[in-house]
Amino acid sequence: MLQARHTVAGLRPARDLAPAARREDRQRVLAVQNLEVVYEDVILVLKGVSLQVPDGAVVALLGANGAGKTTVLRAITGLLDVHRGRITKGSITLDGQRIDGRSAPETVRAGIGQVMEGRRIFTEFTVHENLVVGGHTVDRGTLQANLDRVYSLFDVLADRRKEVAGYLSGGEQQMLAIGRALMAQPRVLLLDEPSLGLAPLMVQRIRDLVLEINATGTAVLLVEQNAAMALSVASHGYVLETGRVVMDRPAAALREDDDIREFYLGLREEGAGSFRDVKHYRRRKRWLS
Ligand code: ATP
Repeated sequence: MLQARHTVAGLRPARDLAPAARREDRQRVLAVQNLEVVYEDVILVLKGVSLQVPDGAVVALLGANGAGKTTVLRAITGLLDVHRGRITKGSITLDGQRIDGRSAPETVRAGIGQVMEGRRIFTEFTVHENLVVGGHTVDRGTLQANLDRVYSLFDVLADRRKEVAGYLSGGEQQMLAIGRALMAQPRVLLLDEPSLGLAPLMVQRIRDLVLEINATGTAVLLVEQNAAMALSVASHGYVLETGRVVMDRPAAALREDDDIREFYLGLREEGAGSFRDVKHYRRRKRWLS
């Protein structure tokens, strides 16, 4: 018997919260097809990854440390070469247009926004200056409209707009990083581990923000090790293991999957955790991949 059956770490599932994100007749926006990525010309890290982020959806990309999640994001945003990586096979399209091979600024102009792991804000700049930098691709009128929108979404940033960003708390810096990405009006927002290192209340706040951002029409690809958080907002999820997609299912199905519950959500069956169970899981993992 499972210890908890109906809630995922106390979080309500997406179907209760984001009906707008469940439209059936979605067009594909972002499509990654059969992607292979190599670092340093020899280290094969992604081995034929395919995933889709439909218009207006929240999609979760789950996986353990080193599975290749960040590499997928780097490939989408044109940041692989900075890390001595390159795409050796496959394609990435936005509304059917190839975007693989474009530079990072070109992918931003094409409609991809990214919040990298570790927040990467300009700590010496004020909150306001960070946001203005994020809006460098839009014209002056749009910049003001986007600032208003970000400040209305994040009260705390509005209240502290003149403060130096380095003095914000970890959660506030994460909000600033998200706000900065929104300044370029992305159609698809890529979030790399936004809950990492944050207290549970702040994780809830970030999760609610993902839903609010999505409700305004922005699709979200959410990379997380916190599967409970990700599957509570996503309508669909992918699980990546050692560079391969091993599960590609509606989030509701992933929430009910025994392996996901046990190894990603920490909801173990009574008596589980023995060496025999681990061996069984490894066998299943091999089978899945
Ligand atoms: P994490 O959650 O720890 O960030 P991840 O799923 O995002 O993990 P990646 O950061 O994409 O995984 O890393 C996938 C694999 O690629 C790992 O084995 C990592 O060591 C390797 N890797 C990442 N960047 C480089 C690089 N610049 N050069 C060589 N190998 C790299």
